[in-house]
Amino acid sequence: MERVKPLPNYLIQRYHGWKATTWQENRSWYHRLAEDGQRPRAMVISCCDSRVHVTSIFGADQGEFFIHRNIANLVPPYAPDGQQHGTSAAVEYAVTTLKVAHLIVVGHSSCGGVKGCHDMCSGQAPALEEKSSFVGRWMDLLRPGYDRISHLPEAERLRALEKEAVLISLENLMTFPFVAAAVEAEEMTVHGLWNDIGEGTLEQYEPATGRFAPI
Ligand SMILES: [Zn+2]
Repeated sequence: MERVKPLPNYLIQRYHGWKATTWQENRSWYHRLAEDGQRPRAMVISCCDSRVHVTSIFGADQGEFFIHRNIANLVPPYAPDGQQHGTSAAVEYAVTTLKVAHLIVVGHSSCGGVKGCHDMCSGQAPALEEKSSFVGRWMDLLRPGYDRISHLPEAERLRALEKEAVLISLENLMTFPFVAAAVEAEEMTVHGLWNDIGEGTLEQYEPATGRFAPI
């Protein structure tokens, strides 16, 4: 651990700026958050991509969203096999302990993870097919989505696969018994969104049409 270095200056300066303004102006609220514990209204599952900024899009404050991010906003199927499952652990805690009212999966345009899955499934990315590729094995979750969009013209495939990443996650979420039970009891709603980063548009999945429509 001797290789751990002090934080770079630009981050230290930004932190002190935040502490002197935002925190200082709202200190009693922060104290209350600390004392009362968190009661987030929604869980958001989004991509690690630095351009996906759900707290900015929804104007969220600290304490409002329980957020889990991973490559390509994917939720694996329910698999109680005694192994380590970071995403499943976050979903379990949000649903069974925090009892969030909404569970929102957010996909996005120009997703590098989704493009990797596309290239791997179309035989253009042999490195991702290696057993040792964590990204490749994670993107295996999206292979069923590739099978559903591979007939489309090439220009439409990536965007369609980005939306499949949202749908596969929603399908897999429903394989968790506690998610299915909360939805069935109408204690929690699930939502699928896709964000176009360049245009700033947000589309939501509409089950009636089976399509994503702008909101
Ligand atoms: Zn992404």
